[in-house]
Amino acid sequence: MRESAEAIVIGAGIVGASTAYWLTQFGLSDVLVLERAVPASGATGKSGALVRLHYPNPHETRLALESLRFFQEWEVRVGTPSPFVCTGFLQVVAPEDEQKLRANVAMQRALGAPVELVTAQEVAELEPWRDVAGLTVAAYEPESGYADPVAATLGLLHRVRQAGAKIRTGERVLAIEVEREQVIGVRTERGHIATGAVVLAVGPWANQLLAPLGLNYGLVPRRVQVAIFRWPSDLAPRHCCGIDTSVGMWYRPEGETSTLVGLEAGVVPADPDQYAETADAAFVPAARAAIARRYPELAHGIARGGWAGVVMQSPDGRPLIGPVPGYTGLFAMLGDSGTSFKTAPAVGRALAEWIVHGTPAQDLSPFRLTRFAEGQPWVDATDYARPHRTVSR
Ligand SMILES: Cc1cc2nc3c(=O)[nH]c(=O)nc-3n(C[C@H](O)[C@H](O)[C@H](O)COP(=O)(O)OP(=O)(O)OC[C@H]3O[C@@H](n4cnc5c(N)ncnc54)[C@H](O)[C@@H]3O)c2cc1C
Repeated sequence: MRESAEAIVIGAGIVGASTAYWLTQFGLSDVLVLERAVPASGATGKSGALVRLHYPNPHETRLALESLRFFQEWEVRVGTPSPFVCTGFLQVVAPEDEQKLRANVAMQRALGAPVELVTAQEVAELEPWRDVAGLTVAAYEPESGYADPVAATLGLLHRVRQAGAKIRTGERVLAIEVEREQVIGVRTERGHIATGAVVLAVGPWANQLLAPLGLNYGLVPRRVQVAIFRWPSDLAPRHCCGIDTSVGMWYRPEGETSTLVGLEAGVVPADPDQYAETADAAFVPAARAAIARRYPELAHGIARGGWAGVVMQSPDGRPLIGPVPGYTGLFAMLGDSGTSFKTAPAVGRALAEWIVHGTPAQDLSPFRLTRFAEGQPWVDATDYARPHRTVSR
């Protein structure tokens, strides 16, 4: 007899794990997660995993806020130790973007997000080791922080297994099978599995499964790098997480003694099956110089290594989430654009709601997959000017 499942999730990154979690929370137990390698072996395992709220639009802010609450309630909801570390988060922009920052903070606060505008003096009180020269205002999120992305994924999958669902690793899906535009199953390296509902959560590998269906959303896999620096003194490095668009940089504490830094520069197209997994030699001094502009002590930061991961960039830098037009029973989260760890709890919930309830509780139409074909790519009036588009934060 041909194997079957009520729903199949392809990919065990944070999005696939979250979707499977919510499917089981909504009462489905005949759920199968298929993973090409091991859980969190894609972008998730390489993620900086900042969990913060600052977006220049209400749609992503809502997803981020719902997800922050999920991370804060992790132990009750998931039942494994919390992967979330609350450090606070600071968003700094170039002086010409100050009015946009103020507008974004007002929008976020109207949605109930714990965000406040702080002066340079207040930032200096928060982080006495910081150089605040030239800073006028910043956005401060006292409840934000970062998470261990592998522990988060494994925790969700643990709960999924407990609910009776199956997770199979080392099994690549080769094709999504359709009949008269209705999903009927998947073909894997080991055989065929029948199902009426498939969730595509394969991060930077998406084009491999979309192309045979005649689908092209202009998605480009891109390599993103990070480097870690040990503080050279006993100075407490438990600083806030942050994004500084004026420098083109994001960062967070790493362990008790170090800081992890990512840059917008040098993000190039890459093949997720074959890319250099370590940071480039030139990246390390560039990252050190960038972080030293804010934390001067780190001009002498001791390089502890770095790595690269591959994210999937969408043409407008915003994810595509929802049903795949033209294929009944096919749902996707595409083009994470380097920003979709933090929103995965809410995104997974919405995908599960589509399958189980027919529609998500939150209006996700701005994320619709048809927006490029409609000639309506996403544009935010209060997005910040940058030398390079941010893909990783
Ligand atoms: C260096 C770096 C820093 C980042 N920093 C942040 C940050 O600070 N905050 C933030 O929110 N986001 C950040 N991101 C982005 C975030 O990590 C991603 O948006 C998120 O992890 C995407 O999760 P995913 O589950 O969609 O994809 P992935 O984690 O890539 O998972 C896809 C999974 O699908 C599997 N798969 C692929 N093809 C198949 C197939 N055919 N069959 C079966 N399985 C398959 C893969 O093996 C993989 O495990 C960062 C990313 C990187 C690389």
